[in-house]
Amino acid sequence: MARNAWLRDHLPRLPFARRAVLRFMPGESLDEAWAAADRLLQDGHGVLFTHLGENLERLSDAELVVAHYHRLLDRAATSRRAPEISLKLTQLGLDIDPEAAFAHAEELARRASEVASFLWLDMEASAYVERTLAVYERLRQTYPRTGICLQAYLKRTAADFQRLLPLDPAIRLVKGAYDEPETVALRAKAEVDANFQTLALLMADAARDGKVRLTLGTHDSALLARIAAATRAKGISRDRIEVHMLYGIRESELRRFGRAGFPTASLISYGEAWYAWYMRRLAERPANVVFALRQLLP
Ligand SMILES: Cc1cc2nc3c(=O)[nH]c(=O)nc-3n(C[C@H](O)[C@H](O)[C@H](O)COP(=O)(O)OP(=O)(O)OC[C@H]3O[C@@H](n4cnc5c(N)ncnc54)[C@H](O)[C@@H]3O)c2cc1C
Repeated sequence: MARNAWLRDHLPRLPFARRAVLRFMPGESLDEAWAAADRLLQDGHGVLFTHLGENLERLSDAELVVAHYHRLLDRAATSRRAPEISLKLTQLGLDIDPEAAFAHAEELARRASEVASFLWLDMEASAYVERTLAVYERLRQTYPRTGICLQAYLKRTAADFQRLLPLDPAIRLVKGAYDEPETVALRAKAEVDANFQTLALLMADAARDGKVRLTLGTHDSALLARIAAATRAKGISRDRIEVHMLYGIRESELRRFGRAGFPTASLISYGEAWYAWYMRRLAERPANVVFALRQLLP
């Protein structure tokens, strides 16, 4: 459904779908996202913003995306604790002109550094992994305030982490949100969870002295608790391991990890182009489909 063009054009216009998506995003506008961010920042959490969109077809659209993030970063400059930004390279034109996409990413990395924000590269489907890593390697040469997402369901991720390690990278480890074939990815949930734990512990060792910034992007509190116990046994301080969750999902758990001493942050997605992203959120948890359908009822 995430890839269906007819649904992408029609579903977002239906009132029930618009009501349902508000569970995962505070609204379509930057002002609505900012209001949600203020509340989280006051509660002591960090905030990351994603202006939704991906796989653009015109380079001129990528320029609009860059202009939007510039407005966001200008506003971040006035914030006591600057929100960070997280974006997809296909939103900057990777499919159309990779050099232009790199130039856009570099421009935003520079501005993010100037205002003490931080630029994260989301990881998209497996066909984009190599190109996303290559862009990050180039960016990180100049901009320390940049990070990249790695996916635990991919068989290549342990090797990718070793490859990035000499750069003192910032890593967000997630399970992975795309439907990948077993040639490249682990398919069973138990296997993905086990690999997440193995990778998180490997990364936590590297984060021990602060050279690597490690964030764990998951709502799986049982898995986080196992990782917390293992890192405690290794003597790794809690403030070296950040816990990041998506806005609207398990906020009470985010607060609980914050109280336990882990730096926490919430990733707020907003914007009009929410269709493909929302389909991935539904696919992660079938109960969400029931929730969405219930919005059809008066
Ligand atoms: C900060 C952050 C950034 C991310 N960035 C990327 C990225 O760049 N690339 C990428 O491929 N993926 C990304 N993801 C998504 C990730 O790959 C997973 O698809 C997603 O986090 C669901 O897996 P989980 O780790 O929460 O574990 P799961 O085992 O799927 O879920 C654990 C529990 O969390 C709750 N939960 C999980 N998902 C939902 C949901 N949608 N609705 C309601 N409850 C839910 C449920 O209670 C579930 O039992 C990101 C996730 C986070 C938190």
